[in-house]
Amino acid sequence: MNNNRRRFLAALGAAPLIMHPLARALADDMPASLRGTKPVWIPANAPLSRVPTNLPIQGRVVVIGGGMAGATVAKYLRLWGGSGLQVILVERERTYVSSIMSNLVLSDALTIESLTFNWKRLMDRYGVKLVAGEVTAIDPAGKRVMLNGSSIPYDRLVVAPGIEFDPVAGLETAAAQDRVPHAWKAGAQTTILRKQIAAMPGGGVFLMSVPKAPYRCPPGPYERACIVADHLKRAKPRSKVIVLDENPAITVEKDLFTHAFNVVHAGVIDYRPGVGVQSVDAAAGTVKTSSGEMIKANVLNVIPNQRAGAILKEAGLTNSTDGRWSTVNELTYESTAAEGIHVLGDSAATMQPKAGHIANQEAKVCADVIVRGFLGLAPDPAPVTNSACYSPITAKTASWLTALYAYDPASKRMKPIAGGMGEGPASARNMEEMRQWFSNLMTDSYA
Ligand SMILES: Cc1cc2nc3c(=O)[nH]c(=O)nc-3n(C[C@H](O)[C@H](O)[C@H](O)COP(=O)(O)OP(=O)(O)OC[C@H]3O[C@@H](n4cnc5c(N)ncnc54)[C@H](O)[C@@H]3O)c2cc1C
Repeated sequence: MNNNRRRFLAALGAAPLIMHPLARALADDMPASLRGTKPVWIPANAPLSRVPTNLPIQGRVVVIGGGMAGATVAKYLRLWGGSGLQVILVERERTYVSSIMSNLVLSDALTIESLTFNWKRLMDRYGVKLVAGEVTAIDPAGKRVMLNGSSIPYDRLVVAPGIEFDPVAGLETAAAQDRVPHAWKAGAQTTILRKQIAAMPGGGVFLMSVPKAPYRCPPGPYERACIVADHLKRAKPRSKVIVLDENPAITVEKDLFTHAFNVVHAGVIDYRPGVGVQSVDAAAGTVKTSSGEMIKANVLNVIPNQRAGAILKEAGLTNSTDGRWSTVNELTYESTAAEGIHVLGDSAATMQPKAGHIANQEAKVCADVIVRGFLGLAPDPAPVTNSACYSPITAKTASWLTALYAYDPASKRMKPIAGGMGEGPASARNMEEMRQWFSNLMTDSYA
C-alpha cells in the first residue's frame, strides 16, 4: 500500500470528526467579540442537540438541489452555523437516487432501492427545512428564488442542480428517450436500461457512447462498459459491447481500462475512440456515427454531452467561456457572475472532476466559507479536497483512483497536488473497500 493510498483510506475510515469553523477561526484573526470561545470538535453525524445554539449568527441560506453537493452543504451549514442559521433545501424530486454505484444495477448486483436516499435525517437531526418543488427562476438583485408560484428570500444562495443534457438528433420525444435511455441520472432510466439488457438475446449487441469531456464521472462510462460486458459473458453468451467514444482516447485511468477492454474483456468490448453519435433512430435501433457509419444494436445507450443544471442558464450564471458551466471563485465557490450565490457540484467549472465525492468536499469548503462570512471572517486561504472513485471491472473486482486538490493562490484555482494522485488495478479487496467508501460517503452527505 503506497502512502497516498494509506492517507486516503485513513481519511475514509476515521471517525468523521469535523473541526468546527469557530475552532479553525481561532487560528485566524478572530474578532474580539468571539475571542475566548473554546475550540470544539463536533462529530459529523451529531444529532440535532449538538448543533451549537450559542453562535452569533442570524441568517438564511437557501440551497437549490438535494443531491451530493446540496445535501452536504445543507447539513454542514446547520452543524457549523448553529441554530440561528436557517437552511432551506429546495428539491424537485421526492427521493434521491444515487448515480454513484448505479452501473451495478445494470448487472443486477444492486437494486435501485438500495441506492435511494431521502432528506429525513437532515431535517430530524440537523433542522434543515425541506421545501418540495422546482426552482424556476432566481432574482439575484431581490435575493429571492421563485418556485410553485411563490418566492423564498435568502441572505446567501447555494445552487447545486447537477447536470443537464444536450439534445440528441432523433431522441427529441419522451418515447424515444425511454427507448434509448442514457441512465446518466440514476432512477427510472436505470431501471429501463436494466430491463433492456435482461431482454437481450444471446449473441446480441449493446452499444453505448461516451460523451465529450467534461462530463459527469470521468471513469463512469468505461466502468459501465466493463460491468455490462462481464454480465453479458455470463447471462448472454457471445454478446458484444460496442463503445463509441467522442473523445480521442480513454479520458481517465487509461492503462487500466485499456487492459480491461483488451485483456479482461477481450473479444467482448469493441472500443472505438474519436467516434461520436450523429443521430439515433430509436424505432429501428440504429445509430449513425460521426463518420457516417450506421450501426444496429439490440440495446442503445447513448449518453449525451452535458452542461450545468438548467436553472443556472435561466439565471444567466453559465458564464464559462463555452457558456456551458458556471465559473466560480475556487476559494469560495461564489459565482463570478453574481454576488452572494455559490455554485457547487457538477455544474461548477473547476479543475476538479465532476464527481459525487468532490461535490461532497466542495460543499464542506463552501459551508465553512458561508459560516465564516456570517461571522465577518475571511475564507480559509488554503482549502484541500479529495476525490475517490472505485470502478468495478468484473462482478468480483474493482479498480480505484484518488486525487488530492489544493488551492493555488497564483492561478486562483484548485489544482491537483503533486504526488497526490493514485490508482490501483482491479482486485477483490477494492470491491469490498468500494462498498465501505460508498457507505461512508452517503452517510456523510445524508445522515
Ligand atoms: C453511472 C455513474 C457512476 C458514478 N460513479 C461515481 C463514483 O464512483 N464516484 C463519484 O464521486 N461520483 C460518481 N458519479 C458522479 C456523481 O453521481 C455526480 O458527480 C454527483 O451526483 C454530482 O452531485 P451534484 O450535487 O452536483 O448533482 P446531483 O447529485 O445530480 O444533484 C442535483 C439535485 O438537484 C436537483 N435539482 C436540479 N435542478 C433543480 C431545481 N431547479 N429545483 C429543485 N431541485 C433541482 C435534482 O433533482 C438533484 O436531486 C457517478 C455518476 C454516474 C452517472
